[in-house]
Amino acid sequence: MRNVDVVIVGASLAAAAAAKRLTDAGLETVILERKELPRHKICSGILSPRGHRFLLENFGPLPREVLHDPTWCRGVTFHFPSMVSMSLDFFGGTTPHLHRKYSDYWAIQRSGAEVHDQTSFVGLVEHSDHIVVNARKQGEDLQYRARHVIGADGPSSPVIRSIYPEYPEQIPWFFVGQKFHGIIDCPLDREYFHFWFNPDLGHYTWSHARDGQQIVGVGFKSGDNFDAKHKNVVRYLEEKHGVRLDPHTSHEGCAENFGPSLINRYVFGKGNVLITGQAAGFLNIIAEGMSCALHSGAISGEAIVEARLRNRPVQEVYRKMIASEVRRTTDQWNPLKVAFGMPHEADFRTALMGLSWRERRLVVRDIWRFIVLYKEFKWGRQIVQSALDRLSNGSYTQQRWI
Ligand SMILES: Cc1cc2nc3c(=O)[nH]c(=O)nc-3n(C[C@H](O)[C@H](O)[C@H](O)COP(=O)(O)OP(=O)(O)OC[C@H]3O[C@@H](n4cnc5c(N)ncnc54)[C@H](O)[C@@H]3O)c2cc1C
Repeated sequence: MRNVDVVIVGASLAAAAAAKRLTDAGLETVILERKELPRHKICSGILSPRGHRFLLENFGPLPREVLHDPTWCRGVTFHFPSMVSMSLDFFGGTTPHLHRKYSDYWAIQRSGAEVHDQTSFVGLVEHSDHIVVNARKQGEDLQYRARHVIGADGPSSPVIRSIYPEYPEQIPWFFVGQKFHGIIDCPLDREYFHFWFNPDLGHYTWSHARDGQQIVGVGFKSGDNFDAKHKNVVRYLEEKHGVRLDPHTSHEGCAENFGPSLINRYVFGKGNVLITGQAAGFLNIIAEGMSCALHSGAISGEAIVEARLRNRPVQEVYRKMIASEVRRTTDQWNPLKVAFGMPHEADFRTALMGLSWRERRLVVRDIWRFIVLYKEFKWGRQIVQSALDRLSNGSYTQQRWI
């Protein structure tokens, strides 16, 4: 049995950030990744300015091979059913368009941790002063003995399932899928990520250019038909925006745990098992999850270092330290912050004010109709309660965290 200080499950961005903090502090850290590295990761790859700063500060300048073409993105264009479109530029200029297969591998290699790929986490058993992690590599059972475990294993998190088997039944699940098309004619500006606030298309509808193709993606509540939803979006793009595409050449999709950050219902683990990144529920507006994965991952690593130095329970330290990232993420969904603050990394209010009065009225009406699509999840009251907590206490209550 391999004996280490920390086992991290998942070799993604949250893991790279956590590992960097741990190895910098001299802790022996092993990352387990179920796939062979460098591994594919479904993602648009539009990194927010804050995520970009994190990579630069912690891992150095990004090499060309970790980027797609176009190599950068100027911002986001929102499209509304009333046919008003509105472009928001990112603060501070363009941001990188990451090729996740190579960017994640690059960051992981620079983290200084030892990586065991093709090694799947299977389960864990917590003892008083250590944890035994069970894993499987190409049919062979492996065991690791660690003081701490970090679950940085994404939305479907097997680590969460092993400590809270009932959790996946308690949240709504979404499916997001995208198809890659050759381009006949595409008037959508390739310097922007395009998003549709249109309830007739789906819960989450997007398109952008990548490596000479056009991605058309759609997200919806699990159980609906991907092909039918996607076809509907392609038809809409052609009719309303003049986008003419070849039949798709490939497609992919995955399950998403969209929701915990809206209602401040994060999962941070128990005992010496910490959960971080999207597994914990971190997802910014329009599903931008890389910057909060990096920052929350780093905090999970720091919390372990700090807890060991001060001889404190690691959950206590982690929950205290992670409150800043919870504020940043949940503020993005907080209607009071959206109306009176500036929680996003692009200026929504200035873009809105650039529209005529009539267009502004249409946009507000269309956004409201889009929000109504989410009514069935009963998040409204919880969002309002969280916003009021934030207003009166300056933070979101820890009592809702798991
Ligand atoms: C279609 C789509 C588009 C997106 N576009 C953007 C975007 O443009 N910008 C943005 O910021 N975010 C985007 N996101 C969100 C972003 O991809 C995630 O929020 C981010 O990758 C989360 O990082 P993470 O480190 O928490 O986990 P993940 O990136 O999900 O990585 C988890 C890792 O754990 C591994 N793993 C899982 N199970 C096991 C196991 N049993 N054993 C070992 N390893 C395991 C996985 O293989 C994976 O490598 C998008 C997501 C999707 C689905």
